[in-house]
Amino acid sequence: MHTTTTPASPLAAGVRAQGFIGRLVEPGDAGYDEARAGWNGAIDRHPAAVVYANDADDVGAAIRAARSAGLPFTVRGGGHSVSGRSVRDGALCIDLRALNGVEVDPESAVVHVGGGALLSELDAATQRHGLAVPAGQISHTGVGGLTLGGGIGWLMRHHGLTIDSLLAAEVVLADGEIVRASAHEHADLFWALRGGGGEFGVVTRFEFRAQRVGPLVLGGMLVYPWEQARAAFQAARALMADAPDALTAFAVLITAPPQAPFPAEHHGRPVAWSGDLDEGERVLAPLRAGCPPLVDLVAPMPYVALQSMLDETAPHGRRYYDKLHYLPEVGDAFIDTLLDGFADVPTPHSHVMTAWMGGAVDRVGSGGTAFGHRGARAFTWLIGCSADDPVGPAADWVRRVFEATAPFASPGVYVNALDEGRPVHEAYTEEILKRLIAVKRRYDREGVFDAHGIRPS
Ligand SMILES: Cc1cc2nc3c(=O)[nH]c(=O)nc-3n(C[C@H](O)[C@H](O)[C@H](O)COP(=O)(O)OP(=O)(O)OC[C@H]3O[C@@H](n4cnc5c(N)ncnc54)[C@H](O)[C@@H]3O)c2cc1C
Repeated sequence: MHTTTTPASPLAAGVRAQGFIGRLVEPGDAGYDEARAGWNGAIDRHPAAVVYANDADDVGAAIRAARSAGLPFTVRGGGHSVSGRSVRDGALCIDLRALNGVEVDPESAVVHVGGGALLSELDAATQRHGLAVPAGQISHTGVGGLTLGGGIGWLMRHHGLTIDSLLAAEVVLADGEIVRASAHEHADLFWALRGGGGEFGVVTRFEFRAQRVGPLVLGGMLVYPWEQARAAFQAARALMADAPDALTAFAVLITAPPQAPFPAEHHGRPVAWSGDLDEGERVLAPLRAGCPPLVDLVAPMPYVALQSMLDETAPHGRRYYDKLHYLPEVGDAFIDTLLDGFADVPTPHSHVMTAWMGGAVDRVGSGGTAFGHRGARAFTWLIGCSADDPVGPAADWVRRVFEATAPFASPGVYVNALDEGRPVHEAYTEEILKRLIAVKRRYDREGVFDAHGIRPS
């Protein structure tokens, strides 16, 4: 009997010739659409191929193959980039999903994490030992992209950004070489990885120092009706003015879902909520007494539950568009402008998160890592979301509210919220950007990693 095999495409043959052993998916192959899909359903791009790396050697082989074919390539961790930077038309997509192992040494509290792991995988493994690495707030976000940009979340004021817990990284460089970066090895690269994004290499393994956290923390939501949004914002601001570092609060404007525990008369109406953790009822008492919530969902809960509490606000496949401002303060005029802007939110899933920074984020000086704007007091993150329609009206709304609130912003943007068209220099101070460019010249002289637009010249 004769069997016919489809001849490998030149690209596939080139990838294999470099020693790549993982799965390779090209247009027309089963699984291609799944491979190219990211979290944001508004991004519909067609890479030349997606290669699922099994290890750092595979990543090196894929980079060499792309370069010798003259093809650009992208790197995919958790696939959460809102602007879809991990997939590009006609490029080779190096997918790290298979690199999702997490190993925890409970004695030393050192955690090794694969470059393609999700926050849920990191949290589940560390919490088994009562440990946590500070990370983000939606559990299906990738550790890779989040960490390399900085990593903000519930533990940031207590234990710092995710990068502040990073001890070392295994990195595949532009020529396929595999190096270890730490305070003592390739120290310049290690500095740049902590905030500079995926501009310098592919991290196949992160090494973190975890903190003792949980298993129970105090967290949840205080839900207010729209009419109380201003007062709730102000009460949260008063609380955060001299809050202990163990308390982190987000004030979120969102439309209440039509389900319990939200009372029927509030279904579909915007509410504000503040989520907090960790330092006890005493700290929250003034907020509860001064501005009693409509629904009080703050209670001791497992840390992993807190980490996935907001997952439903950001499911895969909807169409998203976002913009972020840093703020020098959360002033009354800002609050009023934001509330005015939210009053005509076009879709029930669009929302705004305003968070207070400070605490441990401030304890690392500016320039201590490549994170751009540690001095910001707060940020507001506008997220436009559409379930079925084109994201257009929601994106227009984001742009409108962004413009209206711009007079209250401080310079800069979080690199992980850098929307298409916003120049990368806004994510950094001049001094940090200069240093990043110097590191880029040393490790990626030809600019083959193009995560955010840091050019070697
Ligand atoms: C719903 C949602 C919630 C979010 N919440 C938070 C939050 O709480 N805190 C926060 O800080 N950020 C948050 N973000 C932003 C998030 O950090 C960025 O979108 C980040 O890029 C996601 O990383 P990823 O690996 O999932 O994304 P991907 O799209 O896979 O990657 C984005 C880019 O990161 C780089 N990259 C990823 N992994 C690697 C790696 N291992 N080595 C080298 N480069 C790599 C690549 O350049 C890639 O193009 C959120 C985003 C979304 C969509």
